[in-house]
Amino acid sequence: MTSAQKILIVEDEQDLAELVAMQLERAGYAPHQAHDGRTGLRMAAEIQPDLVLLDVMLPELTGIEVAQRLRVDPATSDIPIIMLTARAAETDEVTGLSAGADDYITKPFSLSVLLARIETVLRRAGADHAPSEPLIVGSIEIQADTHRVLIESNEVLLTPTEFRLLTCLVEGRGTVLSRQDLMRKAIGPGVRVTPRTIDVHITALRRKLGDAGGLLETVRGIGYRIEQPAATETND
Ligand code: CA
Repeated sequence: MTSAQKILIVEDEQDLAELVAMQLERAGYAPHQAHDGRTGLRMAAEIQPDLVLLDVMLPELTGIEVAQRLRVDPATSDIPIIMLTARAAETDEVTGLSAGADDYITKPFSLSVLLARIETVLRRAGADHAPSEPLIVGSIEIQADTHRVLIESNEVLLTPTEFRLLTCLVEGRGTVLSRQDLMRKAIGPGVRVTPRTIDVHITALRRKLGDAGGLLETVRGIGYRIEQPAATETND
């Protein structure tokens, strides 16, 4: 690790934010602070922190809204989030709904517990970022690390939503995914779209994939699946 890992603290109780920042600095991290949701969102995109500590009750945007928006934006979607909850109802909301938090911690918390959680989440995120094998179906190759899609070694430029749709279908390995599944997985919570939006994205995706677009199969009345060409399955 050449430089300190950046941690963005989004917390409107400034005394608490300050205290946490001091402890993080002492532990060798580079803390940054935002005191409302909107500023937190902007700073996350700007400074690309290694982790965001996100309070749930915030002015401007709630922590849940911030988490959802961070997840939807490809520039911030991989940043781990630990949410700070103050009440049981908030905890339920964070855990029940897929707000996109990697972990949560209930106030009041001890700073040593917070540091331990941060370390765990960062370690897990580091492991996730290790280069992974490309996903291959027929002539389509998806490189998850670099967000690239190749067809017979030629790069196909996809929008982030098209990329996520294709990845979901390929990871599905031939199972049928409903439009609702695809909306949840590829578009994420908090963004209002209709099932028809999925059809529009799939149409665009098929066109961009050219001949390989034929692998995206419409399952009438249900959704979509990817056809698994038998020949590539023997590849050990
Ligand atoms: Ca608060």
